[in-house]
Amino acid sequence: MKPLYLKAHESGLLQKKVEKARTIVQDCTLCPRKCKVNRLEDEKGFCNTGRLSLVASFNLHFGEEDPLVGRGGSGTVFFAHCNLGCIFCQNYDISNNQSLHHEVSPDQLAGIFVELQSAGAENINLVTPSHVVFQILESLSIAADRGLNVPLVFNTSSYDELETLGILEGVVDIYLADSKFFGSKEAEKYAHAPDYPEKARMAILEMHRQVGSLVTDERGAAKKGLMIRHLVMPGGLAGSDDWLDFFAANLPGDTYINIMDQYRPAGDASRYPELRANVPGSLIIDLKKKAGSLGLTRLDERSSGVFRLLF
Ligand code: SF4
Repeated sequence: MKPLYLKAHESGLLQKKVEKARTIVQDCTLCPRKCKVNRLEDEKGFCNTGRLSLVASFNLHFGEEDPLVGRGGSGTVFFAHCNLGCIFCQNYDISNNQSLHHEVSPDQLAGIFVELQSAGAENINLVTPSHVVFQILESLSIAADRGLNVPLVFNTSSYDELETLGILEGVVDIYLADSKFFGSKEAEKYAHAPDYPEKARMAILEMHRQVGSLVTDERGAAKKGLMIRHLVMPGGLAGSDDWLDFFAANLPGDTYINIMDQYRPAGDASRYPELRANVPGSLIIDLKKKAGSLGLTRLDERSSGVFRLLF
């Protein structure tokens, strides 16, 4: 299956998308923050990223979901900063440690993509990419000329604008979408983004409209489609039950869902007593049981092992 961005590159559509994104970042409304700064002049908004993208690290990652890891590993590119900024960010060290960031040119970012592919990556996994869509598109065009041909993964918090996702249609092969807070109150308190729930719900539906349910090859490696992540938080702060109800009501039963049990109090979480609590294993089991009863049958296998044993 030829990656979508390659088809777009060959037809000339990718270059048109680069130009559309360039126009948007001149008065930046790329994401729901709508900072209206001129990123081309290196002005910075909430995401603290100007003209060039900032890369914190890149490597072959074997800890992602099995369809992304395959045999060769997922070629992860961790972008610094974020347009959402959860105070308990599970990647806080990567996203906030200034000393680890490197500003990269479009040519250098393209080089990273190609280098990861040469090292055996099954895909290029763009981690926290929502604020650097323009830079990614620019680099993709260069990388396609240099032979990049593995699927592109947009690994997002889902705090995305529909207009930006429209630019990514026909470019992104796999959306790996977080579903963080279902409630506006929690989104305001922990990410200063009361509109996150509404934006994320619309974004996830749009992603599914674009790429459908996950498609894998004969080896089980992901080629196209939507994968959803849901990090269960202590005290029900993420609205896990509501998310499952939403998925069941709006997406097919074969939607790939990873109910994640690895919450830990990172970042500034220690300032909030409710974020210092643990997530009991029994809650994860109950949520997986509920997902099954709602007809959501394609749960991430690594974390559903206990569920399969017990039920
Ligand atoms: S991408 Fe950054 S500058 Fe643009 S609207 Fe979002 S947070 Fe603001």
